[in-house]
Amino acid sequence: MFKTLYWLQCGGCGGDTMSFLSLESPDIIELFEYLGIEVLWHPSLSEFNHPEHEKLLEQIISGEQPLDILCVEGAVIRGPGGTGMFDVFMGRPRQDIVLDLAQKARFVVAAGTCASFGGITGAGDVDGTGLQYTNKEKGGLLGKDFISAGGLPVINIPGCPCHCEVLAGILTSLASNVPVKLTKFNAPLPWFGILVHQGCTRNEYHEYRVEENDFGEKGCLFFHMGCKGPLTYGPCNKLLWNRRNSKTNAGVPCSGCTHPDFPFSHPFFKTENIAGIPLELPDGVDRAHYLAYKGMAAAAAPYRLKKRDTNV
Ligand code: SF4
Repeated sequence: MFKTLYWLQCGGCGGDTMSFLSLESPDIIELFEYLGIEVLWHPSLSEFNHPEHEKLLEQIISGEQPLDILCVEGAVIRGPGGTGMFDVFMGRPRQDIVLDLAQKARFVVAAGTCASFGGITGAGDVDGTGLQYTNKEKGGLLGKDFISAGGLPVINIPGCPCHCEVLAGILTSLASNVPVKLTKFNAPLPWFGILVHQGCTRNEYHEYRVEENDFGEKGCLFFHMGCKGPLTYGPCNKLLWNRRNSKTNAGVPCSGCTHPDFPFSHPFFKTENIAGIPLELPDGVDRAHYLAYKGMAAAAAPYRLKKRDTNV
């Protein structure tokens, strides 16, 4: 039996679609075929003209056309003054269409950090929000108690953009009736139950506090270069990008793009710290113990690490 999917783009850059189109093995067309997913509408895949699209929307909203999975990409634009008129689609505020479709869908998926938490669009003046969160605060457009017809809250797949393989994984679970376990921010546990820091190839530098002070020095990027890996739950370093690399592998700090508070108010490439110890410490760490541990670890650092005598 075919499952139906409708993909709506709201306020965002379209990066989640770009990421999803990059899915390689299987590619998205093969994925939809394997899973028996019928794409009712996707802006990059569908060829409907406007009246046909309007009719489809009417059929979904009236219940004539069943909808299994609603994917929303981009923040929901509520401005000005809660009217949503900054973002109109088919003659209606797009936020109203999201509300209508979410009531009909068996499952609602927020693709990317903007749809999940507001993200970059939410940080602007358009009063953007995520589907069920505004940053860490539960609520968003649909409200904190929203549960879709399939019995789940909005499934958040944060990331700027979200990783195409996570999206493929969650669609596979939904289409195959595999139970989905979620984190406290309603992101799928298998990919968002670990920190970006776990699996980073620079972990040994972090362990002994061998620090980078400038790009290309080799070392951990946490203490000076703004790395959010120890604060951010996400699949980078577990699932590499293009199956090859991640930001921290390549020497670029994690900017925390899967974090509900992304984008942060301080610079991406600078760690706010006191006496070399970051203000924000790894999730769950006690400051006094961390100070003592890192002091001892730096003193015990092996010479080969201090010399940056590794390929990382
Ligand atoms: S570079 Fe970032 S993710 Fe890698 S070990 Fe250092 S803090 Fe962790």
